[in-house]
Amino acid sequence: METTLRGVGVSHGVAIGEVRHMGTAVLEPPAKQIPADEAEREQGRARQAVEAVAADLVARGNLAGGEAQHVLEAQAMMAQDPELMADVDRRIAVGSTAERGVYDAFAAYRALLANAGEYLAGRVADLDDVRNRIVARLLGVPMPGVPDSDEPYVLIARDLAPADTALLDPTLVLGFVTEEGGPTSHSAILARALGVPAVVALPGAGEIAEGTVVAVDGSTGEIFVEPSQEKRAEMESASAARKAALSAVTGPGATSDGHKVPLLANVGGPGDVPAALEAGAEGVGLFRTEFLFLDDSKQAPSEEKQVEAYRAVLEAFPEGRVVVRVLDAGADKPLEFLTPADEPNPALGVRGLRSLLDHPDVLRTQLTALSRAAEGLPVYLEVMAPMVADRADAKAFADACREAGLQAKFGAMVEIPSAALRARSILQEVEFLSLGTNDLAQYTFAADRQVGAVSRLQDPWQPALLDLVALSAEAARAEGKSCGVCGEAASDPLLACVLTGLGVTSLSMGAASIPYVRATLAKHTLAQCERAASAARAADSADEARLAAQAVLSGE
Ligand code: PEP
Ligand code: MG
Repeated sequence: METTLRGVGVSHGVAIGEVRHMGTAVLEPPAKQIPADEAEREQGRARQAVEAVAADLVARGNLAGGEAQHVLEAQAMMAQDPELMADVDRRIAVGSTAERGVYDAFAAYRALLANAGEYLAGRVADLDDVRNRIVARLLGVPMPGVPDSDEPYVLIARDLAPADTALLDPTLVLGFVTEEGGPTSHSAILARALGVPAVVALPGAGEIAEGTVVAVDGSTGEIFVEPSQEKRAEMESASAARKAALSAVTGPGATSDGHKVPLLANVGGPGDVPAALEAGAEGVGLFRTEFLFLDDSKQAPSEEKQVEAYRAVLEAFPEGRVVVRVLDAGADKPLEFLTPADEPNPALGVRGLRSLLDHPDVLRTQLTALSRAAEGLPVYLEVMAPMVADRADAKAFADACREAGLQAKFGAMVEIPSAALRARSILQEVEFLSLGTNDLAQYTFAADRQVGAVSRLQDPWQPALLDLVALSAEAARAEGKSCGVCGEAASDPLLACVLTGLGVTSLSMGAASIPYVRATLAKHTLAQCERAASAARAADSADEARLAAQAVLSGE
């Protein structure tokens, strides 16, 4: 009998197929003692397995490219951490087998990370994944992870490690559902980059039996278990109609009455450029440069290496607009050379622009590299700082840009409620604003974006978040400056209309969402978008706001 479950839809589209579960079994090797003369051989086995797993992660990264590559390379480095390896050696020297030594050393490291603060939850999942891979290799059993199947399937997992998300084959994996993860988690961002329908934060999904047919709606977050023939037909025809409508709308983003809203792409490096161009992105609204820095968390990449990566992205958008965000390290993206190791609450600590102002040499090198990369190119370069809290932050950033001789517009991201509340004051120092709604939601609702249990509060339809967007957009309009959105909120087609109605001037998102947003925007006038925005702001909850906007936009 058909049952309906509801999670959080994070990547558009409909997927209908049989369920396959992710191999998540934690492999606990038996704790048996080995004779002392076998220790050296076991240490060699452990080292070989670590090297092989690291090489495999790097190879998966090369295959995946883009943001995924950097995430996987960071995981490979985790596997080879010298202190962790020294601990494995020590444990084997006192009688552990290679697999048990790895298992116990990772457990100790895991406990350290877990106790270092809530924000490390995402990294703990990555660490467990690395451990499982090494132990599986040592035990000679199949790797945990994406199931082997020749038939297309819907993947269900507790959570997806970046290594697995990156390897999902869109021709085999029709869609995925996870029990954990919020709408702005790494997995959700990567799913959108892949263009695979996905639903997260659905506890209980793990209990759906292997082989059961489910229908996943990545837009609404609904999962129909054993859908009836009528339901399947209804969803399939709605999906086909959506696809046909998508390909019928091309060109720059605009409402039906011609109000232009440039649709830009979020990229993590040159690897994401082809998908952005294919989706018809009018430029880049967020270049997350920290992904270039995750290769080696001990030092910044050289100026030369940075120039090369920036130029590759800038060259792809002649005459277009490219908004580069300077390094956003800290919290869920710590870098050893920038991020303090002992903060009790890193999301509220020295991260983003704060790290850069503490390390002016790193900021200077990045701005100089950007300036060199843009030399002679007909691109509109805009550079923005993450985590700007107040006018002093904005001034410090603009001063650094001027000192580096950068020929670009300087901007501030609005990710902290204080920046939205005092947007006019910040705009005295910079030329544009860009709303990072992922962090803005996290800080407005005190709800960690990595934690599925609080995903209700990370919903960008929350009226309080819409109020902060409106404040920022109104301030920019009053100052005659622009105010875009580059957080995940921009990738929800209906919300994109509401953001437009609130006065946002551009929308930037993962490339796969651009056609959906373009098609939906093209169906409504600016006045309708404004009415939908007012209706959403008048609501008392995210769900009510969504319904109210829907009612206005569908002419009810
Ligand atoms: C945001 O916070 O909305 C944002 C765009 O930045 P990131 O997701 O990289 O933190
Ligand atoms: Mg952010």
